Formats: sequence, C-alpha cells, structure tokens
Amino acid sequence: MEIKTDFLIIGSGIGGLSYALKVSELGDVVIVTKKGDTESNTNYAQGGIASVFSKDDSFELHLEDTLKAGDGLCNPEVVRRVVEAGPGCVKELAKIGVNFTRKRGEDHQFDLGLEGGHSKNRVAHVADFTGREIESCLVEAVKSKKNIRILENHAAVDLITQHHLQGYKRKPHEKIKCWGAYVLDIEKNQVLTCLAKITLLATGGAGRVYLHTTNPSIATGDGIAMAYRAGASVANLEFIQFHPTALYHLEGNSFLVSEAVRGEGGILRLKSGEMFMEKYHPRKELAPRDVVARAIDHELKRSGDACVYLDITHLDQKFIKLRFPQIYGKCLSLGIDITREWIPVVPAAHYVCGGVVCDLEGKTGIENLYTCGEVAYTGMHGANRLASNSLLEAVVFADFAARSSKDESRSLKDPSFPPIPQWSLKGVFDQEEWVIISHNRDWIQRFMWDYVGIVRSNRRLEQARKRIRILLDEITQFYKVNPVTYDVIELRNIAIVAGLIIECAIRRKESRGLHYNIDFPEKDDENFLKDTVLESEEEA
Ligand SMILES: Cc1cc2nc3c(=O)[nH]c(=O)nc-3n(C[C@H](O)[C@H](O)[C@H](O)COP(=O)(O)OP(=O)(O)OC[C@H]3O[C@@H](n4cnc5c(N)ncnc54)[C@H](O)[C@@H]3O)c2cc1C
Repeated sequence: MEIKTDFLIIGSGIGGLSYALKVSELGDVVIVTKKGDTESNTNYAQGGIASVFSKDDSFELHLEDTLKAGDGLCNPEVVRRVVEAGPGCVKELAKIGVNFTRKRGEDHQFDLGLEGGHSKNRVAHVADFTGREIESCLVEAVKSKKNIRILENHAAVDLITQHHLQGYKRKPHEKIKCWGAYVLDIEKNQVLTCLAKITLLATGGAGRVYLHTTNPSIATGDGIAMAYRAGASVANLEFIQFHPTALYHLEGNSFLVSEAVRGEGGILRLKSGEMFMEKYHPRKELAPRDVVARAIDHELKRSGDACVYLDITHLDQKFIKLRFPQIYGKCLSLGIDITREWIPVVPAAHYVCGGVVCDLEGKTGIENLYTCGEVAYTGMHGANRLASNSLLEAVVFADFAARSSKDESRSLKDPSFPPIPQWSLKGVFDQEEWVIISHNRDWIQRFMWDYVGIVRSNRRLEQARKRIRILLDEITQFYKVNPVTYDVIELRNIAIVAGLIIECAIRRKESRGLHYNIDFPEKDDENFLKDTVLESEEEA
C-alpha cells in the first residue's frame, strides 16, 4: 500500500506535533507514531520548560548557564537563537491551552521553578506533569486540523532514499534525497510506502539502549539509526545524560523523581542519613546533573548499597502535595509517603545530547529530511544538557524547521517521485528464532549499562565494541532473512545506536561534560574541543 502526502512526520512528541501544527498551513500532513498518539518522552516530562520570563533574568544569563553546562561544546549561535525564541514558543504553547502554573497575585505570571545549573528561576511548569499537559494539548490541537492524519501503531522502518531504487549506483558527490519512509502497520503487519515532499524525523531519545532508564519503551533510538543507515551524519553520542534520581523500587519501572525536588530543597542522604553532596560540589544538590549522578554512582560503588535517598520531609506537607502531585501519588501507591519518608533513588539513562546532525533550520545532510527534538544534534546542549532545555530546544527547532519548510515546499510544488519499489518480502521466511530478539536486547542493555555507563574506561569500552560488533553481525543476518516486525526493528536500531555511542565514546580520549573516562580523567581542550562526528557508511 502507498500513501502520498506533502509532509511526513515520524514521531508524535513535542517536536513532531509542534511542527505538524505549523506546516499544516502549507499542505497535507501524515504523522506516524509507533504506539498511541501521546506515548512519548514528552508525555513524562515533569520539571518543565526553561525560558526567560522573570524581570531579574536575561537571555544573556540563560545563554551563559547553557554554555557553562555544555562544557565548551555548545554552539553559542544556536544557543542564543533558541534562548531568544524561547518565550515566544512557550507563549504559543500556552495559547493552545497548556495551563502553566501561575503565581497568585503578581499579574498572574508563570510560576518559575529553579533547577540545577540555572542561575535564575526560569522553568515554566504545570505542577509536576508539564509534559503530559503539553502532549495532550498538542494532540488535541493537531486532531482539530482536517489535513493532519495521525497513524498510531505505525513504526517507521527505513527512510526511503536512492538506495531503494532498483539498480541504483550513487554518482560521486550526488546528494542523498529522502522521499518518505517505509512504515510498518503494526496491527496489520504490513509495510506501507509513505511518500512525502518533506520528511521530519522527530523520534525522540534512546534511553532504552540502557538497562536503567527514565525513558518509556518508545525510546529506542530509531531515528538516529534510520538516519545513519540512510547516509546522515550523527554526532556527540558519547554524551548520555544519566538522571541522578530515578525512583528505586522493584515496581517503580524507572519513574523519574524530578530535578525540581532538589530545586525546592530536597537533600540527598546515604542510608545512615549522612549528607554527601557537599563533598562533590559547592552547589551541593543543585550541582549539574552529571556531577550529582557521578557522586551517587561513587557513593553506591563505595558502600555497595542499592540506592541513596532524597529527603523532603522538612518541607511543608501541603506544599509537597501541591507542587509534586504526581511524585507524591506514585510513591504513595508503592507505600512511600514522601511527606514523612525518604525517597529511594538511583541514577538512570535519561537524555541523549547527541543525535542526527542538523543546521539552524533543522535540515539534515539528506535532502528534504528535517529533524528536531531529542533525536537531533543541533549544537544546543554541547557536552551536557542544562535541565529543562530539551523541551525548549524541541519546540523552538520545530518552529525553525517549519519556517524553513515553508520556503522549501514552494519549490517542491509538483514533486515527482521516482519509481519507488514496494517493500519486498521476497526470500523472507520465519526461522522461529525469536528468542534471539529478547536475549540480544537484554544483553545489549546490560553491557551498555556496565561498560558504557556513568563512568567509563578504555578496557570496558573496547570490550563493549567487541561485543556489539558480534551482535550487530548476528542481528543483521537475522533481519535479512526474517519478516520485519516491531521487535526486530527496535532490536536492530538499539544495536546500531549502541555501536554509535561506543564509537563516539572511544574517539573522545578525555573527560568532558557527561563523558567520564577514568583513563583520561582530564579535559583536553587542545585536541578535543570539538564535536565527535560519525559519517554514515550508508548501509540502507
Ligand atoms: C521522565 C522524563 C522527564 C523529563 N523531564 C523533562 C523536563 O522537565 N524538561 C525538559 O526540557 N525535558 C525533559 N525530559 C526530556 C524531554 O521530555 C524530551 O527530550 C522531549 O520530550 C523529546 O521530545 P521529542 O518530540 O523529541 O521526542 P518524544 O517526545 O520522545 O517523541 C518521540 C515520538 O517518536 C515516536 N517514534 C519513535 N520511533 C518511531 C518509529 N520508528 N516510528 C514511528 N514513531 C516513532 C514515539 O512513539 C514518540 O511519539 C524528560 C524526559 C523524560 C523521559
């Protein structure tokens, strides 16, 4: 089956949906999303979206804080553009119905939270369920547009490029073009050919490459793997942010305990009650995330304990329930009353700072392929993302990409697509070796956690590289001879992204931002004050 549209958007988080709303003024839009329409990292964001609203704040200060966290690798021009566009984009979200928490009195201004690494209160939020509110308002707004179709339970398999044309041989310097994507209708188990003038990759993060993560199950790095296979460059994948405080509980399922809890005065303690953050950073609990995550990792390795504790029992009970209703409710459902008991927490993979390389308009190196959100590498976050800058980057880059698409789509008025073949199932048979999928997925997640986690070493990285090469070979063979299914798509992508993370981590022979290697514990500005860019080998 074939679908033709003006804009194909892969992913229905804040990036994909914001872009969809804007380009729907220009033409027909199809959004494919691999689970339900709201299932995304966006939906789970708690803390909020950073932007300059308060009188004692300024773009300069937001820029400065972002550059400081990014540890020398942010692109200052990109940061400035994003920071300056921020308030306008946040107001647009409020306009479509996002009910940001406001202060009483004081002209009903946004209540701005303080988070680690920010020198001012600048995090606009909706209590502690900001993402859920943004996601549901965006989905509602998108559904009100007649020319936007959302296809739920549809997983993009591969971007369609020249590589899919029969008998194609690439000429030297010929630019790769994207004409849409092959998409698996998961319920019907059928692969659709979705052709589009312009495609936006907004598939979010890759936390599921790791054993412990705050990310929901959709975050398997599909966009990074698809773009890389198709010929796009990816960058800075060694910079994985580990959130210091995921709830530690057998039934907790990686539930995040927001940074804002520390912002409001939460104290980290060992089992004994001892506070430890002052040993690691002058800003103690409000130190940047990587510092807090490494401090906890160090304390856990030293003590052999399974978790540390976050204590907010000294705060007013009413305030806790009002400010953190979601965290309060979740913990209570597991038998922990956070107004009286400490919250058990551990670090978990949270955010990928690197991704598919794009320019200030969201354009990738592949013609007619845009990207925004967590899957993209824009230059905003550098070696470490400042808290609550990711929703901001996603919504602002969706806007930049939509503006650029407007100009682009004019020249694409009557696109003619080359003869794109339908997805072929020829020669494919079911070997009934499906146990390979769950086994390999589990194995990758475990060794990525143990060898390519918060603290790395040359030996562990080399071990990880050896393992992923063997696995990638096995998975590629499996992929070629078995029918394409949702599980196989994810496994292949997880393996590819794991390989790319390892490769980036090996190339950076220093410690900077989120990348810490005990064999190169110092920063080396002379040799590594630059991005780690991996050029694609075009495997598609
Ligand atoms: C628990 C948690 C809390 C967070 N808190 C904050 C916060 O307070 N502030 C902040 O700024 N950031 C926060 N973040 C990060 C932020 O939420 C994300 O970076 C941001 O929401 C990413 O948006 P996105 O649109 O790029 O991707 P997502 O919101 O993840 O959306 C990706 C979409 O792509 C779809 N998709 C993926 N692969 C495919 C495929 N192959 N085919 C079809 N569809 C596909 C998914 O189903 C999903 O719809 C948090 C993240 C988590 C996990």
